Amino acid sequence: MFETEKKELIEYGIRVFKSGLVQGTGGNLSVRVGENGDMYLITPSGIDYEHVVLDDIVLIDMKGNIVEGKRNPSIEHGMHRAVYEKRRDVNAIIHTHSLYSTALSITKQPLPQIESSVVLMRGQIEVAEYARHGSIELAKNVVEALGDRKAALMANHGLLAADESLAKALKTCISVEHCAHMYILARSVGQVYPISPEKCDELRDYIKTSYGQKK
Ligand code: 13P
Ligand code: ZN
Repeated sequence: MFETEKKELIEYGIRVFKSGLVQGTGGNLSVRVGENGDMYLITPSGIDYEHVVLDDIVLIDMKGNIVEGKRNPSIEHGMHRAVYEKRRDVNAIIHTHSLYSTALSITKQPLPQIESSVVLMRGQIEVAEYARHGSIELAKNVVEALGDRKAALMANHGLLAADESLAKALKTCISVEHCAHMYILARSVGQVYPISPEKCDELRDYIKTSYGQKK
């Protein structure tokens, strides 16, 4: 079942790995599937991204039952499910351990709206309280920190991006990492001045109506 979606998930796992957003078998990816969007495909636990094959991908329903697959799913399958349950607009999730995002998470400081890409993630990127990897508590903390935005930092752990598609979720992961890097550099040379909430609203409206090509 869902061979095309499984192939896409494997391909995006390799992209995440090659982009340097994870090391080894860190991080995980999933995509919502099914007529009612009531199941998701997720990467297996602890298998190198470049070695994952179609049969390694696990299909899980929204009650947490494994519908298809012989592998143990990612230990964060509950965190992915919690986000899908809370956010009907989310069809794909990527969790990474990227360097600057994780560094910032260790200080428990959010990523403010310092640049347009953070503004377009619908607000400053909050930090989920630390809880053990794979725990229900971590899932709850991440859902809370994510709110209705596109990403959340995970204290002492990494980043989660949630979006309409794997392509968009990957772009968000790359943007958050880039902005976290930018923010840390800026903080190292002086005071930082985020864009004001009013100017952020103005920018969001402007980009929605005027950026890029007509559809
Ligand atoms: P998995 O290999 O089980 O997905 O775990 C990696 C990870 O990042 C846990 O937080
Ligand atoms: Zn992790």
